[in-house]
Amino acid sequence: MKNIGLFGGTFDPLHMGHINSMITVAGEMELEKIHVIPAFQSPFRDQTDGPSPEQRLEMVKRGLGNYSDLLVVDDREIKREGVSYTVDTIKSIADRSEGEKYSLIVGMDQFGSFDRWKDFAEILKHVNLIVTSRPGSDLPAGLSEYPPGLVELVEDHDGEQALLKNGNTINFVQLEDVEVSATEVRKLLRDKKPVTGLVPDQVKDFIREQGLYEAVSARIGAFDKFTEFCAGYLESRKSINVMAFDLSELDFPSEYTVITSGTSTKQTSAMAQALVREVKTKYGVYPQNIEGMREGRWVLLDYGATIIHLFYDYVRMEYRLEELWKDAKRMTVPQSGPSN
Ligand code: ATP
Repeated sequence: MKNIGLFGGTFDPLHMGHINSMITVAGEMELEKIHVIPAFQSPFRDQTDGPSPEQRLEMVKRGLGNYSDLLVVDDREIKREGVSYTVDTIKSIADRSEGEKYSLIVGMDQFGSFDRWKDFAEILKHVNLIVTSRPGSDLPAGLSEYPPGLVELVEDHDGEQALLKNGNTINFVQLEDVEVSATEVRKLLRDKKPVTGLVPDQVKDFIREQGLYEAVSARIGAFDKFTEFCAGYLESRKSINVMAFDLSELDFPSEYTVITSGTSTKQTSAMAQALVREVKTKYGVYPQNIEGMREGRWVLLDYGATIIHLFYDYVRMEYRLEELWKDAKRMTVPQSGPSN
């Protein structure tokens, strides 16, 4: 039986954290190959600005060139287009294979919400799961730290492995931390800071050739003014308790942030959509990333140096993000609404 890994992601861009994870997992779990599968569109993010899916694929191809004996680029999600559901991808690979056993590799951040993936129980019928640590996300200490939906699928478990009722397994692999995320790389690039050592050189060269990750900041210009614009617009829409912070002196991936909330999940999504439209009209840009828009519990709009958090008020109380920023400089929120 050949053991094959499947490693999906947005790869916006591919970085050394991804490569470290794949190489370590291949060694520890004795995988002969890993299919690296860039998503056309992640179900959890609306990629609206930044590199195209084809450019992300190209970065993966170039960046993995040196590892091609082990890491095979698989473009099926890019070719399929639409929202990239892992269950569809897995069925198209795992069902056609004899003599091969597939394992899906995910970082701990993704495992935490794995029970929200479409047909997650179905996924686990076709493949084993391998979960890696990630800087800032430790492996679960016990079953109580598994995502609730998964617990009932587990037959037995110890620290390193869980046996599922369907006969497949979940294995946990502790990685040596490689302190990098795509969010951090994008921020460095926006700030025109070096990313040497964080992404493969071929990826760095491609980013420079194509001028990726620069356009949004050029169009937005002064991010402090932009942040005030967003905060003022939300205030004018009667969003609850709009707060804006200048984080530039602190160690966060964004330089400015706005936090606010709505009275329901529906209203929170509607407000986020209205802000996205308003910014598009005024600045001509969409966010680089949108998360949580469909659910409306915690919507995150990533405009690069400025990140906007819109919460359903009840969820905001749970996370209390503003406490993280208590040492940051508060910015003035224009009270009269944007003056355009
Ligand atoms: P972002 O910062 O935008 O969230 P990302 O690098 O986490 O980007 P993906 O490209 O979608 O996003 O990640 C693909 C996979 O790589 C996920 O399973 C994720 O958990 C894992 N991963 C990402 N960075 C690391 C890292 N530094 N160490 C280990 N695993 C990682």
